[in-house]
Amino acid sequence: MLVHLAAFSHARTFASPFRLPHALDTPSDWSQIRHHVHSPFPNWLLDCSFLVLSRYFNIRVLCFFYLAIFTLLTLLQPPPIVFQHFNPILISKTRYINMSDTVLSPPAKPGIRRLSSISTTFEDLALGPSVVVPPEHMSKPSDAHETAAAMEMAKHRLRKRDNRAGDVTPPTPVDTLVTDQYAFAFDIDGVLVRGGKPIPQAVEALKVLNGQNEYGVKVPYIFVTNGGGKTEQERCLDLSRQLELEVSAGQFICGHTPMREMAEKYKTVLVVGGEGEKCRAVAEGYGFKDVVTPGDIIKDNKHTTPFRKLTADETEHSRLRNFGESEIDAIFVFADSRDWAGDQQIILDLLMSKNGRLGTRSETFDEGPPIYFSHNDVVWSASHPLTRMGMGALRVSLEALYKSLTGKELVSTAFGKPQIGTFQFATRLLQQWRKDTHGIDAPPRTVYFVGDTPESDIRGTNEFNASSVCENQWYSILVRTGVFEEGTKPAFAPNATVDNVLEAVKFGIQREVDKGLKSKVQQLSQQQEAIMEE
Ligand SMILES: [Mg+2]
Repeated sequence: MLVHLAAFSHARTFASPFRLPHALDTPSDWSQIRHHVHSPFPNWLLDCSFLVLSRYFNIRVLCFFYLAIFTLLTLLQPPPIVFQHFNPILISKTRYINMSDTVLSPPAKPGIRRLSSISTTFEDLALGPSVVVPPEHMSKPSDAHETAAAMEMAKHRLRKRDNRAGDVTPPTPVDTLVTDQYAFAFDIDGVLVRGGKPIPQAVEALKVLNGQNEYGVKVPYIFVTNGGGKTEQERCLDLSRQLELEVSAGQFICGHTPMREMAEKYKTVLVVGGEGEKCRAVAEGYGFKDVVTPGDIIKDNKHTTPFRKLTADETEHSRLRNFGESEIDAIFVFADSRDWAGDQQIILDLLMSKNGRLGTRSETFDEGPPIYFSHNDVVWSASHPLTRMGMGALRVSLEALYKSLTGKELVSTAFGKPQIGTFQFATRLLQQWRKDTHGIDAPPRTVYFVGDTPESDIRGTNEFNASSVCENQWYSILVRTGVFEEGTKPAFAPNATVDNVLEAVKFGIQREVDKGLKSKVQQLSQQQEAIMEE
């Protein structure tokens, strides 16, 4: 019985396309068109009636009868709606349809519905025509090109007129209000930013330097930070966002910026600190040719640091190599370590090795590679109300461990503040910045350095000012918004102490105004004396 029923269904299915053109003879054509042909009776009714009648009549006769009835009904039904939704796919099929066949002929129009570009939905586009009509006002002829051409012509005439005027009277340079007498240099953490957020007075302070002050004078400035772990460009973008003004890489010094000058000296270097692979990228950007990280060393030998396992991300990005065959020429601590225990283990292994080869141990402990730190701040000002340990603390810890293990003093080098070289670098940068942006090709007479850390900012400024290499005056101003603790005496005394960076800026500008007035009074008194003598 079931076999008979299946045979019947098969025959019924094939009865429907009797009237379809022979041009559509592929399986996909049949399946698409069959979908649109509707039987006058539901399938379940035909199947049930066939089962009942098959108990009383011969099966073959019954099949033939049903087939004939179904074919007749199909021939009598209304024309199938093949083009109800004029799918672009089916449009291409119609090229093969016999157009003399009235049943499958497409509508009189080619079937392209015009849709509004405003009201069209996804379904319209997916199932309907491929033509979308723009709104009426956009279809009208426009004179926009004429307006644009007229504006360009007007601009051209204005430029020509300005140039002609310039031949007679030179234009007043924009930077005539920029002072060439003094400049500012700022530390960042604890002065302008704390815990990633701007200190409230910072934005206002920089506005004052940019000309929004009672004297209408612009004052050049640069940033000198011991922070790092990112490229100078990335730090500038961060600072620009935090301070709501554009900061250029040309006015920015990181703690590790001077390390770029050592890229030619060392071939294979270990770079420590920072997040992920950022410090490797910074070092490679400086020109270091072969940069390895603690992650590379742990990936080569996971027993190097028994309590530190690489994360999946670190494993993916760390580079595999055989450190038994490589020698590391120098160690650079670019940024704060994220894993003191692991990093110290690897650094000490290298410091005590023979010629920087891991797995070896020097007998004299003077064959290891040199180590450099991008700065020496023991503490720094973060989001926490109390100061946090910085890179200088790691240096102190390493020196103590090295002495404990070898009995010798560790010789290391630190860049950044308070190193005099950093202030020399800052002097050159400031001169270049003034030249590039304001056309002033000379060092400022006075530089006000605003910082929050007596041990680096104030000490460095004072010592540089007192050194023989300093050709101008560097004036230290300590602010109370960072490391400095009220009620304590700073280890290195500043020239001035103020509450915040805005007060520091106002103090410096007022001091210069007072100096200018004083010198004018002196000039006048000298002139008067000269007149009296005559
Ligand atoms: Mg600071």
